[in-house]
Amino acid sequence: MTMKKLFFLLCAVFISFGLSAKEGYFSSSEYSLHLNYNDKVYPGDAIIINLDIEQKNCTECRGEVSFFTNSIKKALVTTPFFQTEKEGSLIAIIPLSSWYEPGDFHVEIRYIIGNNTPMVFSLPIEMLAKDFNSETIPLNPTNTAIKTDNSTTRVQQIDRLNQILDTWNSDSVWQKIPFTPPTTATRRTSFFADRRVYAYSNGSSSTSLHYGIDYGVPKGTPVYACGTGKVVLVENRISSGNSIVIEHLPGLYSLYYHLDSMSVVEGQMVKQGEKIGLSGDTGLATGPHLHWEIRLHGLAINPDFLRETWPYF
Ligand SMILES: [Zn+2]
Repeated sequence: MTMKKLFFLLCAVFISFGLSAKEGYFSSSEYSLHLNYNDKVYPGDAIIINLDIEQKNCTECRGEVSFFTNSIKKALVTTPFFQTEKEGSLIAIIPLSSWYEPGDFHVEIRYIIGNNTPMVFSLPIEMLAKDFNSETIPLNPTNTAIKTDNSTTRVQQIDRLNQILDTWNSDSVWQKIPFTPPTTATRRTSFFADRRVYAYSNGSSSTSLHYGIDYGVPKGTPVYACGTGKVVLVENRISSGNSIVIEHLPGLYSLYYHLDSMSVVEGQMVKQGEKIGLSGDTGLATGPHLHWEIRLHGLAINPDFLRETWPYF
């Protein structure tokens, strides 16, 4: 590709984005490109980019996306595209921290065909303001002991979970429609990204972020997979009790904590809406509830966002 053509591509994408904030088109005699993405986001959401490229020799096409705040040159997050079954159709999902302040951000897409010079283009992102709850949770001596447990077993459990959540399998494309709730109950007792203070029974305290949504359900309530995927963890953990983790897309996982019982095994495929266990109060829990959490590239994101927004397959 000549530099002139590359320059033209950049201009074309910028111009079409000026007209329509969510979609861009470009076509030439060699290839055509169409992309869309959500340009207005809240902290804790994700940016979903669908990129469709028609090109004669797309066997070695690959791309990645980096996310920047406009004031700092270093990327905050970088993630590869993954391929769908449709030829030339690529998807990237970028997790957004719930700590981001409102303002102007951008994503930079680098797309490479074979050994050619990468095409690089930038898309504007507007981070909107969102308020999160603050709460103080008193812990009894038992829960204080769990929260302050530094045993080798607990450290190993945390390491294993983090290793799973950081795994990006390009072929793990299981879920193609938005998530559904993990329970028929709707009463929530804690919300995504609540800013928490744990008040220990010994008088000290610690701060933390609530990574998921808590449903106030009695012990024994059926828990359902929020999407189709592969069960990658079934374990009784010190802090989260009986826990299940399901992989849905490359780098995208759902987590279910404090279960009374679990009816799936590691390596098993489950369908969206399939029963995976019963809710309970195992691990660090001040009462029976279901904790439902979503992780993308290791970062906790708002589960409600993926009930409403999903890539095009
Ligand atoms: Zn919770």
